[in-house]
Amino acid sequence: MSLLLQGYLAKILIFAKYEKFLLVIGKFTIKNTYLMITTDLLIIGAGPTGLFAVFEAGLLKLKCHLIDALPQPGGQLTELYPKKPIFDIPGYPSVLAGELVDNLMEQIKQFQPGFTLGETAVTLNKLEDGTFEVITNKGTVHHAKAIAIAGGLGTFEPRKPLIENIADFEEKGVDYFVKNPEVYRDKRIVIAGGGDSALDWSIFLANVAKSVTLIHRRNEFRGALDSVEKVQELKNQGKINLVTPAEVIGLKGNDHIEAITVEQEGNVYDLETDYFIPLFGLTPKLGAIANWGLNIEKNAIVVNNALDYQTNVEGVYAIGDVNTYPGKLKLILCGFHEATLMCQSVYNRLNPGKKYVLKYTTVSGVDGFDGSRKEAEKAVVKKID
Ligand SMILES: Cc1cc2nc3c(=O)[nH]c(=O)nc-3n(C[C@H](O)[C@H](O)[C@H](O)COP(=O)(O)OP(=O)(O)OC[C@H]3O[C@@H](n4cnc5c(N)ncnc54)[C@H](O)[C@@H]3O)c2cc1C
Repeated sequence: MSLLLQGYLAKILIFAKYEKFLLVIGKFTIKNTYLMITTDLLIIGAGPTGLFAVFEAGLLKLKCHLIDALPQPGGQLTELYPKKPIFDIPGYPSVLAGELVDNLMEQIKQFQPGFTLGETAVTLNKLEDGTFEVITNKGTVHHAKAIAIAGGLGTFEPRKPLIENIADFEEKGVDYFVKNPEVYRDKRIVIAGGGDSALDWSIFLANVAKSVTLIHRRNEFRGALDSVEKVQELKNQGKINLVTPAEVIGLKGNDHIEAITVEQEGNVYDLETDYFIPLFGLTPKLGAIANWGLNIEKNAIVVNNALDYQTNVEGVYAIGDVNTYPGKLKLILCGFHEATLMCQSVYNRLNPGKKYVLKYTTVSGVDGFDGSRKEAEKAVVKKID
């Protein structure tokens, strides 16, 4: 299990207190506030673009709340390539994708953003007073003065194995994501897949679950070499039951999954289990966003790039990979730039008549919403006469 994944997921603790939830993901405490959420700027998508928008909005004293369909922040970086180095982030000759997300989370902590994680924004309504209401698939209602869609390539939909009755066991023992590893404590689990997710979760859950069986249709795995070696080591120690080449072809149970049917080199047999976790990768889908009355071209939202990345609906912006305009580049640093200009526009929209004067953080410092203040030591900043 990668340290990065552990950082995010190993320590997921949920403290319930009345209707408020605190989600502790690794070292970051994230406020998950259910019921009606009110904020200045609602950001749909907690990838790098959405996260950096919180910082830029914070400098302008705008409160932010983020919604993400995934159970953790970071978008593609966390979900698809947390251990890969990125070489084109200004000022970082090389940074691991997961580390960049950690740093963004650290940078925005002072602005105390709220998070609705593991929920998909499905409806967007513009209200009569010009504000917006966004409702998720779980019914959480968000109310905001402006909307920034930072939805990247869309929500990640799991690739599901072709097992006839699999839908009958969804939320009844079949999980396509590992949202909370604690669910599997002292349970028998079967993971299927040959990539990094299948390997990483098998390694991690080997110390949590009662038993872990990893099934893959080939003898070779596609994941990182160190993960493959670790799985081999855990197999030798009897902590992972490796079944290859094999496929899961059926599921059995009543109210909950009780067994899977495995086909291995011509033999068909049942294996008892409490959970079946097929990890066959994710495909992005723009999904509900495409039905919000926004101009869409080539599966992306058309924005006014000459000004502020606003869409055809006033007050609704689209930044990062989710937007399109002439010359668009789907790069992290482009998302950061778009987030910065978008926040200026939101500020002007919410503060008509107030003139915004651009201030350098080196000169003005940064005042967090948590009462913190960061500023350069006076001696460090030379005055220009
Ligand atoms: C393997 C790989 C390597 C890459 N390497 C580089 C690189 O070296 N340099 C570089 O600059 N870029 C790189 N990229 C591209 C980079 O990852 C993207 O440009 C970047 O992730 C875009 O960030 P984003 O925040 O706009 O979108 P994303 O990272 O895609 O995040 C969008 C988030 O929005 C969420 N979302 C979408 N719709 C909804 C909804 N309706 N409700 C709730 N949540 C929603 C998604 O769950 C997702 O978490 C790479 C991409 C890949 C796949």
